[in-house]
Amino acid sequence: MGYASRNDPVSRPRHVNPASASPRTSATGRQSRYSMSHPIRNLPVVQNWSCHVCGNCCRTLVGLITDEEKRRIEALDLANDPEVAPGPWFKPMVRGVYRWRLNHRREGGCVFLTAENRCRLQERFGPEVKPFVCRMFPFMLIPAGNHWRVGMRFSCPSAVASRGRPVADSQKDLVQLSHLLESHLGRSADDAPAPSVRRGRELDWPDACRLVDVLVEIVQDRRDRLERRLRKCLAVARICREGMEVRGGQLSKFLQAVRSAVDPDVARDPASLPPPDRFLGRVLFRVLLAIFARHYRDASRASGLRRALNRVRDGLSFARGRGRVPRLNDYLPEVRFEDIEERHGIPPEADEILERYYAIKLSSFQFFGPPNFEKPIWDGLESLVLTLPMILWLSRAMADQPPMEAVQRAIQLVDDHFGGDAMLGLPHIRYLERTLVERGDLEKVVAWYSR
Ligand code: SF4
Repeated sequence: MGYASRNDPVSRPRHVNPASASPRTSATGRQSRYSMSHPIRNLPVVQNWSCHVCGNCCRTLVGLITDEEKRRIEALDLANDPEVAPGPWFKPMVRGVYRWRLNHRREGGCVFLTAENRCRLQERFGPEVKPFVCRMFPFMLIPAGNHWRVGMRFSCPSAVASRGRPVADSQKDLVQLSHLLESHLGRSADDAPAPSVRRGRELDWPDACRLVDVLVEIVQDRRDRLERRLRKCLAVARICREGMEVRGGQLSKFLQAVRSAVDPDVARDPASLPPPDRFLGRVLFRVLLAIFARHYRDASRASGLRRALNRVRDGLSFARGRGRVPRLNDYLPEVRFEDIEERHGIPPEADEILERYYAIKLSSFQFFGPPNFEKPIWDGLESLVLTLPMILWLSRAMADQPPMEAVQRAIQLVDDHFGGDAMLGLPHIRYLERTLVERGDLEKVVAWYSR
Protein backbone atom coordinates (compact mmCIF):
# COMPACT_ATOMS: atom_id res chain seq x y z
CA MET A 1 0.00 0.00 0.00
CA GLY A 2 1.23 3.45 -0.82
CA TYR A 3 -0.32 5.75 1.71
CA ALA A 4 -2.39 4.88 4.62
CA SER A 5 -5.45 6.13 6.56
CA ARG A 6 -8.89 6.58 8.92
CA ASN A 7 -12.31 9.09 9.41
CA ASP A 8 -15.26 12.63 9.33
CA PRO A 9 -17.86 15.72 10.01
CA VAL A 10 -16.70 19.28 9.40
CA SER A 11 -18.04 21.78 6.99
CA ARG A 12 -14.61 23.03 5.92
CA PRO A 13 -11.22 21.33 6.05
CA ARG A 14 -9.64 21.49 9.46
CA HIS A 15 -6.00 21.62 10.32
CA VAL A 16 -4.24 20.09 13.25
CA ASN A 17 -0.61 20.74 13.88
CA PRO A 18 1.00 17.48 14.91
CA ALA A 19 3.81 19.33 16.60
CA SER A 20 1.34 20.74 19.07
CA ALA A 21 -0.20 17.34 19.75
CA SER A 22 2.96 15.61 20.87
CA PRO A 23 6.71 15.55 20.42
CA ARG A 24 7.86 13.87 17.24
CA THR A 25 7.53 10.41 18.65
CA SER A 26 6.42 7.40 16.69
CA ALA A 27 3.64 5.06 17.71
CA THR A 28 6.23 2.54 18.75
CA GLY A 29 7.67 5.11 21.15
CA ARG A 30 10.72 6.02 19.09
CA GLN A 31 11.70 9.55 18.19
CA SER A 32 10.88 10.40 14.57
CA ARG A 33 13.83 11.48 12.40
CA TYR A 34 11.67 13.99 10.49
CA SER A 35 12.05 17.47 11.86
CA MET A 36 9.16 19.06 9.93
CA SER A 37 5.66 18.53 11.15
CA HIS A 38 2.83 18.49 8.66
CA PRO A 39 -0.77 19.35 9.37
CA ILE A 40 -3.51 16.89 8.68
CA ARG A 41 -6.45 18.20 6.71
CA ASN A 42 -9.60 16.45 7.71
CA LEU A 43 -12.62 15.55 5.62
CA PRO A 44 -14.82 18.38 4.29
CA VAL A 45 -18.07 16.55 5.09
CA VAL A 46 -19.91 15.09 8.05
CA GLN A 47 -18.61 11.57 8.50
CA ASN A 48 -18.51 9.25 11.48
CA TRP A 49 -16.67 6.07 12.05
CA SER A 50 -15.98 3.53 14.77
CA CYS A 51 -15.01 -0.07 14.33
CA HIS A 52 -18.06 -2.29 14.85
CA VAL A 53 -16.02 -5.46 14.89
CA CYS A 54 -17.56 -7.10 11.82
CA GLY A 55 -14.20 -8.68 10.92
CA ASN A 56 -14.68 -7.87 7.23
CA CYS A 57 -11.29 -6.19 6.82
CA CYS A 58 -9.53 -9.03 8.65
CA ARG A 59 -10.91 -11.45 6.06
CA THR A 60 -10.60 -9.55 2.85
CA LEU A 61 -7.59 -7.24 3.13
CA VAL A 62 -3.99 -8.16 2.58
CA GLY A 63 -2.27 -7.09 5.82
CA LEU A 64 1.17 -5.87 4.74
CA ILE A 65 3.81 -5.46 7.42
CA THR A 66 7.44 -4.37 7.73
CA ASP A 67 10.42 -6.41 8.97
CA GLU A 68 10.30 -4.50 12.23
CA GLU A 69 6.61 -5.19 12.78
CA LYS A 70 7.17 -8.87 12.08
CA ARG A 71 9.96 -9.01 14.65
CA ARG A 72 7.85 -7.13 17.18
CA ILE A 73 4.95 -9.57 16.85
CA GLU A 74 7.24 -12.60 16.96
CA ALA A 75 8.67 -11.35 20.26
CA LEU A 76 5.22 -11.41 21.89
CA ASP A 77 4.11 -14.30 24.05
CA LEU A 78 1.65 -15.75 21.53
CA ALA A 79 2.90 -19.26 20.78
CA ASN A 80 0.46 -21.14 23.00
CA ASP A 81 -2.47 -18.78 22.65
CA PRO A 82 -5.49 -20.91 21.70
CA GLU A 83 -7.04 -17.93 19.85
CA VAL A 84 -4.07 -17.63 17.49
CA ALA A 85 -3.71 -19.94 14.49
CA PRO A 86 -0.61 -22.14 14.29
CA GLY A 87 2.24 -20.67 12.18
CA PRO A 88 3.46 -19.60 9.81
CA TRP A 89 1.94 -16.22 10.72
CA PHE A 90 3.64 -14.33 7.90
CA LYS A 91 4.15 -14.75 4.17
CA PRO A 92 6.97 -13.01 2.31
CA MET A 93 6.17 -10.37 -0.29
CA VAL A 94 8.31 -9.82 -3.36
CA ARG A 95 9.39 -6.21 -2.77
CA GLY A 96 8.56 -2.90 -1.18
CA VAL A 97 8.67 -1.38 2.29
CA TYR A 98 6.15 -3.90 3.51
CA ARG A 99 8.07 -7.12 2.96
CA TRP A 100 5.61 -9.45 4.68
CA ARG A 101 1.91 -10.06 4.83
CA LEU A 102 -0.19 -11.51 7.62
CA ASN A 103 -1.10 -15.09 6.82
CA HIS A 104 -4.69 -16.29 6.76
CA ARG A 105 -6.26 -19.35 8.34
CA ARG A 106 -7.27 -22.29 6.20
CA GLU A 107 -10.93 -21.54 6.96
CA GLY A 108 -10.44 -17.84 6.22
CA GLY A 109 -9.50 -14.72 8.16
CA CYS A 110 -6.25 -13.36 9.58
CA VAL A 111 -4.27 -15.74 11.82
CA PHE A 112 -4.82 -13.30 14.70
CA LEU A 113 -8.59 -12.99 14.22
CA THR A 114 -10.50 -14.54 17.13
CA ALA A 115 -13.80 -16.41 17.03
CA GLU A 116 -15.48 -13.15 18.23
CA ASN A 117 -14.12 -11.21 15.24
CA ARG A 118 -11.54 -9.45 17.39
CA CYS A 119 -7.86 -8.89 16.76
CA ARG A 120 -5.97 -11.00 19.30
CA LEU A 121 -2.96 -8.66 19.18
CA GLN A 122 -5.11 -5.70 20.21
CA GLU A 123 -7.10 -7.73 22.72
CA ARG A 124 -4.00 -8.82 24.64
CA PHE A 125 -1.40 -6.11 24.04
CA GLY A 126 -3.29 -2.96 22.98
CA PRO A 127 -3.81 -1.23 19.62
CA GLU A 128 -0.21 0.02 19.36
CA VAL A 129 0.97 -3.55 18.84
CA LYS A 130 -1.11 -4.05 15.70
CA PRO A 131 0.62 -3.62 12.34
CA PHE A 132 0.43 -0.10 10.95
CA VAL A 133 -1.94 -0.96 8.06
CA CYS A 134 -4.41 -2.57 10.48
CA ARG A 135 -4.32 0.46 12.79
CA MET A 136 -4.84 2.75 9.83
CA PHE A 137 -7.79 1.05 8.19
CA PRO A 138 -10.20 2.39 7.01
CA PHE A 139 -8.38 5.74 6.95
CA MET A 140 -5.80 6.85 4.46
CA LEU A 141 -3.20 9.60 4.69
CA ILE A 142 -2.28 11.11 1.37
CA PRO A 143 0.52 13.66 0.92
CA ALA A 144 -0.57 16.99 -0.54
CA GLY A 145 2.56 19.13 -0.50
CA ASN A 146 2.65 20.82 2.89
CA HIS A 147 0.00 18.67 4.57
CA TRP A 148 -1.55 15.22 4.71
CA ARG A 149 -5.09 14.70 3.50
CA VAL A 150 -7.35 12.24 5.25
CA GLY A 151 -9.10 9.73 3.03
CA MET A 152 -11.27 6.78 3.79
CA ARG A 153 -11.92 3.29 2.52
CA PHE A 154 -15.64 2.72 2.06
CA SER A 155 -15.11 -1.03 1.88
CA CYS A 156 -15.64 -0.81 5.67
CA PRO A 157 -19.40 -1.09 6.35
CA SER A 158 -19.16 1.36 9.28
CA ALA A 159 -17.56 3.96 7.00
CA VAL A 160 -20.30 3.62 4.36
CA ALA A 161 -23.02 3.88 6.98
CA SER A 162 -21.18 6.72 8.80
CA ARG A 163 -21.59 4.89 12.10
CA GLY A 164 -19.74 5.80 15.28
CA ARG A 165 -17.74 8.78 16.48
CA PRO A 166 -17.09 11.91 14.40
CA VAL A 167 -13.94 11.40 12.41
CA ALA A 168 -12.57 14.63 13.87
CA ASP A 169 -12.21 12.72 17.16
CA SER A 170 -9.56 10.54 15.52
CA GLN A 171 -7.20 13.46 14.80
CA LYS A 172 -4.80 12.57 17.58
CA ASP A 173 -4.49 8.98 16.34
CA LEU A 174 -4.02 10.20 12.78
CA VAL A 175 -1.25 12.56 13.77
CA GLN A 176 0.54 9.70 15.50
CA LEU A 177 0.01 7.45 12.49
CA SER A 178 1.32 10.10 10.10
CA HIS A 179 4.64 10.01 11.98
CA LEU A 180 4.74 6.26 11.72
CA LEU A 181 3.92 6.42 8.02
CA GLU A 182 6.76 8.87 7.44
CA SER A 183 9.12 6.51 9.18
CA HIS A 184 7.95 3.53 7.07
CA LEU A 185 8.17 5.39 3.77
CA GLY A 186 11.39 7.20 4.64
CA ARG A 187 9.91 10.52 3.53
CA SER A 188 7.44 13.14 4.64
CA ALA A 189 4.38 14.72 2.99
CA ASP A 190 6.34 17.43 1.22
CA ASP A 191 8.62 14.89 -0.50
CA ALA A 192 5.77 13.63 -2.68
CA PRO A 193 6.24 14.52 -6.36
CA ALA A 194 3.91 17.16 -7.78
CA PRO A 195 0.79 15.74 -9.43
CA SER A 196 0.16 15.92 -13.17
CA VAL A 197 -3.08 16.97 -14.85
CA ARG A 198 -2.24 14.84 -17.87
CA ARG A 199 0.88 12.99 -18.98
CA GLY A 200 3.89 15.33 -18.91
CA ARG A 201 1.94 18.33 -17.54
CA GLU A 202 2.60 18.95 -13.88
CA LEU A 203 0.70 21.13 -11.48
CA ASP A 204 2.08 22.39 -8.20
CA TRP A 205 0.33 21.34 -5.00
CA PRO A 206 -1.46 24.66 -4.30
CA ASP A 207 -2.94 24.57 -7.83
CA ALA A 208 -3.94 20.93 -7.39
CA CYS A 209 -5.78 22.02 -4.22
CA ARG A 210 -7.55 24.83 -6.16
CA LEU A 211 -8.61 22.43 -8.88
CA VAL A 212 -9.91 19.84 -6.44
CA ASP A 213 -11.77 22.52 -4.43
CA VAL A 214 -13.79 23.38 -7.55
CA LEU A 215 -14.59 19.70 -8.21
CA VAL A 216 -15.73 19.25 -4.61
CA GLU A 217 -17.93 22.36 -4.93
CA ILE A 218 -19.60 20.86 -8.01
CA VAL A 219 -20.18 17.57 -6.20
CA GLN A 220 -21.68 19.37 -3.20
CA ASP A 221 -23.99 21.60 -5.27
CA ARG A 222 -27.38 20.18 -4.36
CA ARG A 223 -29.30 22.01 -7.07
CA ASP A 224 -28.64 18.94 -9.25
CA ARG A 225 -28.97 15.22 -8.74
CA LEU A 226 -25.62 13.66 -7.94
CA GLU A 227 -25.32 12.00 -11.34
CA ARG A 228 -25.56 15.38 -13.14
CA ARG A 229 -22.95 16.86 -10.81
CA LEU A 230 -20.54 14.13 -11.87
CA ARG A 231 -21.41 14.63 -15.54
CA LYS A 232 -20.54 18.31 -14.98
CA CYS A 233 -17.15 17.28 -13.57
CA LEU A 234 -16.60 15.26 -16.76
CA ALA A 235 -17.51 18.27 -18.89
CA VAL A 236 -15.03 20.46 -16.98
CA ALA A 237 -12.36 17.78 -17.42
CA ARG A 238 -13.03 17.61 -21.17
CA ILE A 239 -12.45 21.34 -21.61
CA CYS A 240 -9.48 21.59 -19.24
CA ARG A 241 -7.69 18.67 -20.88
CA GLU A 242 -7.38 20.77 -24.03
CA GLY A 243 -5.46 23.49 -22.27
CA MET A 244 -5.25 24.95 -18.82
CA GLU A 245 -2.33 27.32 -18.90
CA VAL A 246 -3.29 29.67 -16.06
CA ARG A 247 -2.00 29.13 -12.56
CA GLY A 248 -2.46 30.50 -9.05
CA GLY A 249 -5.53 32.61 -8.24
CA GLN A 250 -6.29 32.87 -11.97
CA LEU A 251 -6.72 29.10 -12.09
CA SER A 252 -9.60 29.22 -9.60
CA LYS A 253 -11.31 31.93 -11.67
CA PHE A 254 -10.72 29.99 -14.87
CA LEU A 255 -12.17 26.80 -13.40
CA GLN A 256 -15.23 28.62 -12.05
CA ALA A 257 -15.75 30.16 -15.48
CA VAL A 258 -15.53 26.72 -17.12
CA ARG A 259 -17.93 25.37 -14.51
CA SER A 260 -20.51 28.04 -15.43
CA ALA A 261 -19.90 27.63 -19.16
CA VAL A 262 -20.55 23.87 -19.19
CA ASP A 263 -23.77 24.11 -17.19
CA PRO A 264 -26.20 24.67 -20.09
CA ASP A 265 -24.51 21.92 -22.14
CA VAL A 266 -24.91 19.20 -19.52
CA ALA A 267 -28.35 17.67 -20.02
CA ARG A 268 -30.66 18.04 -17.02
CA ASP A 269 -32.58 14.86 -17.70
CA PRO A 270 -30.37 11.75 -17.93
CA ALA A 271 -33.06 10.08 -20.04
CA SER A 272 -32.48 12.67 -22.75
CA LEU A 273 -28.96 11.40 -23.43
CA PRO A 274 -28.52 8.75 -26.12
CA PRO A 275 -27.86 5.27 -24.67
CA PRO A 276 -24.29 4.01 -24.56
CA ASP A 277 -23.24 2.12 -27.66
CA ARG A 278 -24.79 -1.35 -27.42
CA PHE A 279 -21.89 -3.22 -28.97
CA LEU A 280 -18.91 -1.41 -27.50
CA GLY A 281 -19.86 1.11 -24.81
CA ARG A 282 -22.00 -1.29 -22.81
CA VAL A 283 -19.66 -4.24 -23.37
CA LEU A 284 -16.63 -2.27 -22.17
CA PHE A 285 -18.58 -1.08 -19.16
CA ARG A 286 -19.66 -4.59 -18.18
CA VAL A 287 -16.14 -6.02 -18.59
CA LEU A 288 -14.89 -3.40 -16.12
CA LEU A 289 -17.92 -3.99 -13.91
CA ALA A 290 -16.95 -7.67 -13.57
CA ILE A 291 -13.83 -6.47 -11.71
CA PHE A 292 -15.72 -4.14 -9.35
CA ALA A 293 -18.59 -6.51 -8.58
CA ARG A 294 -16.33 -9.24 -7.22
CA HIS A 295 -15.89 -9.69 -3.50
CA TYR A 296 -13.48 -12.23 -2.09
CA ARG A 297 -14.52 -13.59 1.24
CA ASP A 298 -10.96 -14.44 2.01
CA ALA A 299 -7.97 -12.59 0.59
CA SER A 300 -5.55 -15.45 1.02
CA ARG A 301 -7.55 -18.31 -0.48
CA ALA A 302 -8.81 -16.46 -3.51
CA SER A 303 -5.50 -16.27 -5.30
CA GLY A 304 -3.39 -17.86 -7.98
CA LEU A 305 -4.42 -19.60 -11.18
CA ARG A 306 -7.94 -20.37 -10.05
CA ARG A 307 -8.57 -16.74 -9.32
CA ALA A 308 -7.28 -15.72 -12.77
CA LEU A 309 -9.41 -18.34 -14.54
CA ASN A 310 -12.51 -17.31 -12.60
CA ARG A 311 -11.94 -13.71 -13.59
CA VAL A 312 -11.66 -14.59 -17.29
CA ARG A 313 -14.81 -16.74 -17.18
CA ASP A 314 -16.82 -14.06 -15.36
CA GLY A 315 -15.43 -11.31 -17.60
CA LEU A 316 -16.71 -13.19 -20.66
CA SER A 317 -20.08 -13.68 -19.07
CA PHE A 318 -20.35 -9.96 -18.25
CA ALA A 319 -19.17 -9.03 -21.76
CA ARG A 320 -21.97 -11.15 -23.24
CA GLY A 321 -24.45 -9.49 -20.86
CA ARG A 322 -27.24 -12.01 -21.31
CA GLY A 323 -28.78 -14.57 -19.00
CA ARG A 324 -27.96 -15.18 -15.36
CA VAL A 325 -25.49 -12.82 -13.65
CA PRO A 326 -22.56 -14.76 -12.09
CA ARG A 327 -22.66 -14.56 -8.28
CA LEU A 328 -19.51 -12.50 -7.86
CA ASN A 329 -20.37 -11.54 -4.31
CA ASP A 330 -22.55 -12.78 -1.48
CA TYR A 331 -25.04 -9.94 -1.81
CA LEU A 332 -26.03 -10.61 -5.42
CA PRO A 333 -29.32 -12.47 -5.70
CA GLU A 334 -30.30 -14.69 -8.63
CA VAL A 335 -30.83 -12.11 -11.34
CA ARG A 336 -30.57 -11.82 -15.12
CA PHE A 337 -28.67 -9.11 -16.98
CA GLU A 338 -31.81 -8.26 -18.96
CA ASP A 339 -33.81 -7.64 -15.74
CA ILE A 340 -31.23 -5.17 -14.43
CA GLU A 341 -31.48 -3.12 -17.64
CA GLU A 342 -35.24 -2.81 -17.14
CA ARG A 343 -35.13 -1.59 -13.54
CA HIS A 344 -35.18 2.02 -12.36
CA GLY A 345 -32.50 4.21 -10.82
CA ILE A 346 -31.89 4.69 -7.12
CA PRO A 347 -34.06 6.91 -4.86
CA PRO A 348 -33.15 10.63 -4.45
CA GLU A 349 -32.27 10.02 -0.76
CA ALA A 350 -29.27 8.01 -1.94
CA ASP A 351 -27.67 11.21 -3.24
CA GLU A 352 -26.69 12.13 0.30
CA ILE A 353 -24.49 9.10 0.81
CA LEU A 354 -23.12 9.31 -2.73
CA GLU A 355 -22.26 12.97 -2.24
CA ARG A 356 -20.38 12.07 0.93
CA TYR A 357 -18.55 9.29 -0.88
CA TYR A 358 -17.44 11.39 -3.85
CA ALA A 359 -16.63 14.50 -1.78
CA ILE A 360 -14.31 12.40 0.36
CA LYS A 361 -12.67 10.65 -2.58
CA LEU A 362 -12.02 13.99 -4.27
CA SER A 363 -10.98 16.11 -1.31
CA SER A 364 -8.65 13.44 0.03
CA PHE A 365 -6.79 13.22 -3.33
CA GLN A 366 -7.52 9.50 -3.40
CA PHE A 367 -8.36 9.61 -7.10
CA PHE A 368 -5.00 10.46 -8.68
CA GLY A 369 -1.30 9.79 -8.20
CA PRO A 370 -0.07 6.94 -5.99
CA PRO A 371 -3.47 6.11 -4.41
CA ASN A 372 -4.91 5.44 -7.90
CA PHE A 373 -2.18 3.75 -9.92
CA GLU A 374 -0.28 6.99 -10.62
CA LYS A 375 -3.06 8.31 -12.83
CA PRO A 376 -2.94 12.01 -13.75
CA ILE A 377 -5.72 14.14 -12.26
CA TRP A 378 -8.13 14.08 -15.21
CA ASP A 379 -7.68 10.34 -15.85
CA GLY A 380 -8.14 9.72 -12.14
CA LEU A 381 -11.30 11.82 -12.10
CA GLU A 382 -12.77 9.83 -14.98
CA SER A 383 -11.95 6.54 -13.29
CA LEU A 384 -13.68 7.84 -10.16
CA VAL A 385 -16.80 8.89 -12.09
CA LEU A 386 -16.88 5.42 -13.65
CA THR A 387 -17.61 4.03 -10.19
CA LEU A 388 -21.03 5.72 -10.18
CA PRO A 389 -22.62 3.57 -12.94
CA MET A 390 -20.99 0.55 -11.25
CA ILE A 391 -22.71 1.47 -7.98
CA LEU A 392 -25.99 2.13 -9.79
CA TRP A 393 -25.86 -1.17 -11.67
CA LEU A 394 -25.11 -3.15 -8.50
CA SER A 395 -27.87 -1.33 -6.59
CA ARG A 396 -30.35 -2.30 -9.33
CA ALA A 397 -29.08 -5.87 -9.22
CA MET A 398 -29.71 -6.03 -5.45
CA ALA A 399 -33.37 -5.00 -5.80
CA ASP A 400 -34.34 -7.70 -3.30
CA GLN A 401 -32.86 -5.50 -0.54
CA PRO A 402 -34.13 -2.15 0.83
CA PRO A 403 -32.88 0.50 -1.65
CA MET A 404 -30.60 2.37 0.74
CA GLU A 405 -29.02 -0.85 1.97
CA ALA A 406 -28.44 -1.90 -1.63
CA VAL A 407 -26.71 1.41 -2.36
CA GLN A 408 -24.50 1.08 0.72
CA ARG A 409 -23.50 -2.47 -0.21
CA ALA A 410 -22.79 -1.41 -3.77
CA ILE A 411 -20.49 1.39 -2.57
CA GLN A 412 -18.77 -1.04 -0.23
CA LEU A 413 -18.16 -3.51 -3.07
CA VAL A 414 -16.97 -0.92 -5.57
CA ASP A 415 -14.68 0.91 -3.17
CA ASP A 416 -13.05 -2.35 -2.22
CA HIS A 417 -11.48 -2.20 -5.69
CA PHE A 418 -11.11 1.49 -6.47
CA GLY A 419 -7.42 2.34 -6.28
CA GLY A 420 -6.67 -0.92 -4.49
CA ASP A 421 -7.25 -3.78 -6.93
CA ALA A 422 -3.98 -4.33 -8.80
CA MET A 423 -5.97 -5.50 -11.80
CA LEU A 424 -7.24 -1.94 -12.35
CA GLY A 425 -3.65 -0.79 -12.82
CA LEU A 426 -2.95 -3.26 -15.65
CA PRO A 427 -2.30 -1.61 -19.04
CA HIS A 428 -5.06 -3.46 -20.90
CA ILE A 429 -7.66 -2.58 -18.25
CA ARG A 430 -6.57 1.06 -18.34
CA TYR A 431 -6.86 0.91 -22.12
CA LEU A 432 -10.47 -0.28 -21.84
CA GLU A 433 -11.21 2.54 -19.42
CA ARG A 434 -9.66 5.15 -21.71
CA THR A 435 -11.53 3.77 -24.73
CA LEU A 436 -14.82 4.12 -22.88
CA VAL A 437 -13.99 7.76 -22.06
CA GLU A 438 -12.66 8.70 -25.50
CA ARG A 439 -15.70 7.24 -27.27
CA GLY A 440 -17.90 9.50 -25.12
CA ASP A 441 -19.58 6.49 -23.53
CA LEU A 442 -18.68 7.26 -19.91
CA GLU A 443 -21.15 10.14 -19.64
CA LYS A 444 -23.79 8.04 -21.40
CA VAL A 445 -23.29 5.09 -19.06
CA VAL A 446 -23.63 7.41 -16.03
CA ALA A 447 -26.90 8.78 -17.44
CA TRP A 448 -28.19 5.37 -18.62
CA TYR A 449 -28.08 3.73 -15.18
CA SER A 450 -29.43 6.88 -13.48
CA ARG A 451 -32.62 7.03 -15.48
S1 SF4 B 1 -14.40 -3.62 8.27
FE1 SF4 B 1 -14.55 -1.73 9.50
S2 SF4 B 1 -16.07 -2.19 11.12
FE2 SF4 B 1 -15.43 -4.15 10.23
S3 SF4 B 1 -13.74 -4.88 11.56
FE3 SF4 B 1 -12.80 -3.74 9.86
S4 SF4 B 1 -12.59 -1.62 10.59
FE4 SF4 B 1 -14.03 -2.67 11.98
